[in-house]
Amino acid sequence: MKSANELKQLLYDIDRKGYPAYKGTKGSYRFGQYVLGIDHVQGDPFAAPSKLHVEVAGKVAAFPERLYDNRHKRIALQDHLTRLFARQAEKFSFQAKGSGKSGILSVTRCAQEVLERSACTVDDQTGNVTVRFEAGFPANGRSINARELIKILFEFLPKCVEQALIYKNLDGELAERVMELAEDQQCIREQLKERGLTAFVADGSVLPRESGVSSKPMKGAVRFRSPESMRVTMCLPYKGEITGMGIKKGITLIVGGGYHGKSTLLKALEMGVYPHIAGDGREYVVTDADAVKIRAEDGRSIKRTDISMFINDLPNGKDTKAFSTEDASGSTSQAANVVEAMEAGAKVLFIDEDTSATNFMVRDELMQKVIHRDMEPITPFIERMRDLYELYGISTVLVAGSSGAYFEVADTVVQMDRYVPREITETAKKAAGDYPGLELPAERAALPGCVRCPKKNQGLIHKGRIKIKTMGRDGVSLNHETIDLRYVEQLADAEQLTCLGYLVKYMEEHMLDGKANVKKLVEVLLQKIEKEGLAAVCDSSYLPGNLALPRKQEIFACLNRYRGLKM
Ligand code: ADP
Ligand code: MG
Repeated sequence: MKSANELKQLLYDIDRKGYPAYKGTKGSYRFGQYVLGIDHVQGDPFAAPSKLHVEVAGKVAAFPERLYDNRHKRIALQDHLTRLFARQAEKFSFQAKGSGKSGILSVTRCAQEVLERSACTVDDQTGNVTVRFEAGFPANGRSINARELIKILFEFLPKCVEQALIYKNLDGELAERVMELAEDQQCIREQLKERGLTAFVADGSVLPRESGVSSKPMKGAVRFRSPESMRVTMCLPYKGEITGMGIKKGITLIVGGGYHGKSTLLKALEMGVYPHIAGDGREYVVTDADAVKIRAEDGRSIKRTDISMFINDLPNGKDTKAFSTEDASGSTSQAANVVEAMEAGAKVLFIDEDTSATNFMVRDELMQKVIHRDMEPITPFIERMRDLYELYGISTVLVAGSSGAYFEVADTVVQMDRYVPREITETAKKAAGDYPGLELPAERAALPGCVRCPKKNQGLIHKGRIKIKTMGRDGVSLNHETIDLRYVEQLADAEQLTCLGYLVKYMEEHMLDGKANVKKLVEVLLQKIEKEGLAAVCDSSYLPGNLALPRKQEIFACLNRYRGLKM
């Protein structure tokens, strides 16, 4: 490893030379308190900024072990440090001048969810803290301005490290609060299991967001208040007693007039699979970590999926036990989404009528009379809900505003009334009793079969390497193959999509052999990440700083939407 002085000397030597001479700075350098790694140098001042990292030894960073001695605490600390580093970097960004992206200094922007990210890692063995960030290497026109880079690397960066990554300089109280919240959230998650709950929404939570484009809490919102009959009390290690609405396993129906806050509640539950930062309003909204949002998704592709639980005897004679299409309808897409969620291990499904295919969800009595069961390929979800729960232990939380038919199958009915929930199970059941009952199909729902064992996509490897490009929250592409993820609603961050791109690439290059099925593949992949970290599956000379780990369920969802998957 070279010294910081050697780097400085090198920079003086290349000052005013052509931009490519910056390439020679790639490497590791020992600074006083940390090691600076220059991982990738941009090709010109207008290209994406250069990739760097700093690694502070555990002894120097000196975070007390209690702040990261289990997985959720470690992730919370990493998230906290990323935010602190970002705040420092922002102060110095563009303080060094030049053309194009000269002078940028930035790290990942974290939003409301706390995710495992490559931007910051704390090693649970050594306590070493690594932050991966970007810097625009300065130029005048296209010639190197080394003096400005010296400013960034020898003046700004040491301050960022000093102020964000060394424990003794930080607000220790705040770091403690971050750890405590992570512990409390984890405790709620564990209690859900013990108490047979699928979700918990604390009294006082703020569920609505500021706007469609901001996930910050709405100001002046009506705070959540649990119906008395559903209120549970949890005892948390730091916060102490907390009360809120406990949603039991089984079938829960959320009803109410339009605009009364039904979808807002469901959305909060969907995102409750992730921990949220303090002040978010949803930090004590916690759901079963494997829960999956189900919706209709016209146009998606489906590959050899057994949707026969819901759809049979299609007029075109297509086999629904191994159903494939490049352009699914509302109902077939939603059926595939349910079956795939089951494969991904979901024990809770979240469904909003607003985004469902009506004919997939329910068929009213009059329609049943006119169009006989034999003529209808679809067994609607309402007729399978009980089987899903009783045979396979899969609960459903369903938002419905238009059909009362669900009352009969629901275990719990909650009405949203001006943003305040009320339990109305008894009244709803009584009303349902006056109507003719639901006629269930003769056969019970069989567990979906169909073992899919993907092979390598030979056409993908173009010019010998697969290029990944992320389109924000919408999708990710591998060379020219785009995976549309717009409707995978529980992806919280574009960095999860980038990560998915890397994971699919890794699977294409190293795992798909036509023998292992999708479930096995995802399992093996996750074990590898757990053991060796994200770097192990990111075939790259360095770990990019812009990855966030998705859940297992979203890895399945991504593979299932990947049109290039060969079988
Ligand atoms: P629904 O699904 O019942 O039609 P939504 O959940 O879409 O209703 O909510 C309708 C509107 O009310 C949204 O603009 C939402 O931001 C707002 N809203 C939801 N919950 C609250 C609340 N607790 N306080 C204030 N406004 C809310
Ligand atoms: Mg709605």
